[in-house]
Amino acid sequence: MMPDPENQRQRLPIETFLNSIEDSQKKKTYSYLLSTIEPLKSIIKSRWYIPDGIPNVYIIKNASAEETELRDFINQVQIAEGLLQRCIECEQQATQTIGQSQIPRTLGKLSIAKISLMWAYAHEAFHYIRRHDLVEKHFGNDPSTRHALEYDADLCSAVTIYRYLQHYSSNKSALYLKKTLVQHLFWFLRIEVDRNINMPMQGSETHPHGAARLWDFIGKLAMSHDLIEPDPNFATPITRSHFNELSQVLIDLEWRYLERSDIKNCDNLSPIASFAIENRELRYTSARHARWDEISPLISSFSSLRRNMVSNDQSISFLGDIFSLPRKSSTQSIT
Ligand SMILES: [Zn+2]
Repeated sequence: MMPDPENQRQRLPIETFLNSIEDSQKKKTYSYLLSTIEPLKSIIKSRWYIPDGIPNVYIIKNASAEETELRDFINQVQIAEGLLQRCIECEQQATQTIGQSQIPRTLGKLSIAKISLMWAYAHEAFHYIRRHDLVEKHFGNDPSTRHALEYDADLCSAVTIYRYLQHYSSNKSALYLKKTLVQHLFWFLRIEVDRNINMPMQGSETHPHGAARLWDFIGKLAMSHDLIEPDPNFATPITRSHFNELSQVLIDLEWRYLERSDIKNCDNLSPIASFAIENRELRYTSARHARWDEISPLISSFSSLRRNMVSNDQSISFLGDIFSLPRKSSTQSIT
């Protein structure tokens, strides 16, 4: 059978992709959404040293949202067309649930869809920028390391989008912008929680649970300040008060989400709330945070090196050893 070019999963540069869309309304919406990528890249480039260049975006036509991925070796983030569609659905769901007027439109129309897309791009781009594949080659890909790397990509994305909002709305207070960001990104991150409904709270082999990622996002926003150092231990009253305020926004959105969704059975506690309750002693997150504390100095060191300086397993191990960081005992025994 001859291949049907209309249905092929072509990987196209943004312009080519847009030109291939016949439905003019759809083309306009996609174009508007994707116009957010370049300014986001500028924010990332202004804050991170990226010796090999920031990943470009290609679109995989006719692919489902889950096919979005980083092609690390060719420095490309390939965004599935289904992901663009999902971002637009998040916008519709938010509007139907809490109403247009309750969502601050700091970024104009379709701002929920735009921030969702920014998150998806930034997360994949930071796997590249932070050299996660090299870190994995040094430490091995045991779940605790992979979780720490997902956590790292989420933290960098959260702070980047917050900086983006600050850049374009410099007259707004920090707390206002943080709350706005939670209101915008909740819908996209919440899909992951529903998808993880059968996943144990400690996460899968590769990823933390969606509820953990949502709470970590809130925590990262709370501890990001302009005038004082980041406050990872929540030592200052301002971090604690921001965390409380953002948690309120999250819980409020969660109630509205559950009210509207088909899960009407009140015996089923919200996964967001149950995660928070069960994680009070940090039983699901402390291992990941500890692993991140261990490996983040190596992530920072690797991310400042050109890729061709760290070209093979030997040089990766060598550089890792120079930075004198502990490898997991399981990987140590392999040598
Ligand atoms: Zn990831």
